[in-house]
Parts: sequence; C-alpha cells; structure tokens
Amino acid sequence: MKGLKGKTALVTGASSGIGQAIAIRLAEEGCNVAINYRSNPEAAEDTEDAAMERACGQVQECGVKSLLVQGDVSKEADIIRMFETVIQEFGGLDILINNAGIQTDKASHEISADDFDRVIDVNLKGAFLCARETIKHLLERQAAGVIINISSVHEIIPRPNYLTYSMSKGGMANLTKTLALEYADKQIRVNAIAPGATVTPINEAWTEDPEKQAVVESHIPMGRAGTSEEMAAAVAFLVSDEAAYITGQTLFIDGGLTLYADFRETWSA
Ligand code: NAD
Repeated sequence: MKGLKGKTALVTGASSGIGQAIAIRLAEEGCNVAINYRSNPEAAEDTEDAAMERACGQVQECGVKSLLVQGDVSKEADIIRMFETVIQEFGGLDILINNAGIQTDKASHEISADDFDRVIDVNLKGAFLCARETIKHLLERQAAGVIINISSVHEIIPRPNYLTYSMSKGGMANLTKTLALEYADKQIRVNAIAPGATVTPINEAWTEDPEKQAVVESHIPMGRAGTSEEMAAAVAFLVSDEAAYITGQTLFIDGGLTLYADFRETWSA
C-alpha cells in the first residue's frame, strides 16, 4: 500500500486477535510498530506475555522496528506514559489503531455502575484518550496522521445483554466523525472499521464449539465468520495513502451481516 514504508504505528491491545493481525500486517507494509499489551494481573498473565512475544517476533521478522509497550488503556496515566515511550523510542508517531476492547454478557437491569464503567473506560474513554494524545503529538509536529478505531457491527445493531459493548461502539461512531471533522484541515484522518463476527479469543464461547459456530455462521449472508487478517487488510488500506481522501467513515467488514439477512427470503405477504 502506498505511503506506509517507514511510518510509525501504535496498535492497542495487540497481543491477540485483530490487533495482533493489524500489527503484523502494518509491519509487512513497512511500518515500525509499537505493540501495546495490558498485562492484566487478574488474567492469565503468562498467556498474554507469550502471545505478545509472538506478535513482537512476527513484526520483527518483517525487518522493521518493533516495540512492546505495556499499558492499560482505561488508565490515563498509563496512556500518557505509553505515548511518551513510543514517541521517544520511535522519534514520532503517525498512525494510531484503537483496537483494545472488552465485552461483558449481562442482562441490562443487572449491570452495576462498576460493570458499566469497566467496558466504557476501555472501549470508549481509552480510545478517546489515545486519540487525544496522538492528535496533540501530530499538531505539535505539524504532521499529517491517521487514526483507526476498531468498532463493531454493534455500532449500529443493538445487542441485548451486551448493552455496554453496543453503547461503547455507538459512541465510537461519533468519536470517529467528530474528530474527523475537527481535524480534517490539519490532515489528520480518522476512520473506523466495524468487524462482524470474527474468529478471535473474544469469541471463544462459539469459536471453540463447531455447533455454536455453525449457528453464528447461519446468520451471516456469506456463510462464514471473518478472519483477523481480513480486518487487518482493510486497516492497511485505510491508513495508507490509497485512502488519502477518506475521513469520518466506518467501513463495515461483516460478510453482509448488516444487510438485514432476514430479507434473504421473502417473508412479507
Ligand atoms: P481479543 O480479545 O483477542 O482482543 C482484545 C485485545 O484488547 C486483547 O489483546 C486484550 O488484552 C486487549 N485489552 C483489553 N483490555 C485492555 C486494556 N484495558 N488495555 C489494553 N489492552 C486491553 O478480541 P478481538 O476480537 O481481537 O478484539 C479486538 C477489537 O475488535 C475489539 O475492540 C473488539 O470489540 C473488536 N471487534 C471484534 C469482533 C469479533 O467478532 N472478534 C467483532 C467486532 C469488533
């Protein structure tokens, strides 16, 4: 893709799934890549460390610079430290991929204030704070740059029992558009991709069970879930100069999931 060689990118939550695939694809396109990982002490830290080392190894194999940066994107102090590290080590930042995200499964009337904050803080506040730090840096350098938000089809499709997740992605749509408009004249482009069902660890509940996966895929017009690499390919396009005139858009990458699959067959009288 045009214009990516030698650029510097930061991918949040890049130790697994879509983020990891984006980090590797951008490295293949010649970008130097900073890989953010959370290292959640409550989770299986060993597993995340191993995954993150693997991602870093694959980025390095592309012959570009790579950097591992720990940071919980729900914490402002972590984000500020993370940006200082990346900018110092790489000498600047051109591309931010807001990928880190979590979801919880709970009936809406049972969601506590803490549950609510946990998802919104990672998926929406974290994305905003990372975008803010990127924009401040680009304005200081008077440089062009690109931000990609990893949204979801639930940006527009309501999802019962996943209220906070759907809300965070709905908010992300407005974050994308507002920042795009506000900084368009500074040559800072802001876009989003909205993946449909994608085979990654966030979906272990059905990706590890062929019967459940078949049910999920029966709702997708193209008849299969997407891959992280397919999401990464769209991101590579959107951050490249091939997409130089695109800003404020969400690109849905969902095998037709947002096309009202129920209308595949006529059900009206
Ligand atoms: P994943 O669970 O593999 O990736 C999420 C990543 O975010 C993990 O690496 C995790 O460690 C990281 N993360 C979570 N909280 C963090 C924090 N506080 N600070 C830093 N990193 C943190 O799942 P994925 O499917 O690869 O998800 C990536 C993004 O894609 C998410 O934003 C998700 O909402 C979005 N998405 C995924 C799908 C899908 O079907 N897999 C569909 C639509 C959107």
